[in-house]
Amino acid sequence: MITVLRLGHRPARDKRVTTHVALTARAFGADAVLVSTRDPGLERSIRGVVRRFGGTFRIETGVAWRRILNEWQGTKVHLTMYGERLEKVLPRIAREDLLIVVGAEKVPRELFDLVDWNVAVGNQPHSEVAALAIFLDRLLGPAALGREFAGPLRIRPSPRGKDVVESGT
Ligand code: SAM
Repeated sequence: MITVLRLGHRPARDKRVTTHVALTARAFGADAVLVSTRDPGLERSIRGVVRRFGGTFRIETGVAWRRILNEWQGTKVHLTMYGERLEKVLPRIAREDLLIVVGAEKVPRELFDLVDWNVAVGNQPHSEVAALAIFLDRLLGPAALGREFAGPLRIRPSPRGKDVVESGT
């Protein structure tokens, strides 16, 4: 079970990036995303994708992130450019019930002490979407991207154009 915790979401400014965090989490093999700020519109849009494209991915917004971190029973990883190198620590990260934390702007300093691992996907600043995608891909391997979601809409890979099959048609 892999859960992504998105901190610092500001509905007016971060809607697009947080949507991308959630969609990337789902597409790259996570099971759920938790967002620190309540945002019903974001929930609706992600649930709409799950309804159309399938799978059991869950979203919850407005979560008490400190409580979640304090009570989490599995492994907690914070993705941050200040952390240890991914290549060095990945083999040592226990994978049972994994919580992966990504920020928006500056994250609270206490977060660094609330997790088991502070992990850098390269030590340069970039994006929570890129960091999450690379981390999940390295963690789960290429097979995770190829798995079936079995939803009403299925994309048939095509060299040109859009080939979308709707079940029942
Ligand atoms: N200056 C901010 C800070 O102090 O963390 C950077 C914010 S960055 C736009 C948003 C999020 O992207 C960060 O909270 C972190 O989760 C992720 N991120 C950015 N660069 C990263 C890197 N090199 N490795 C891992 N995560 C990164």
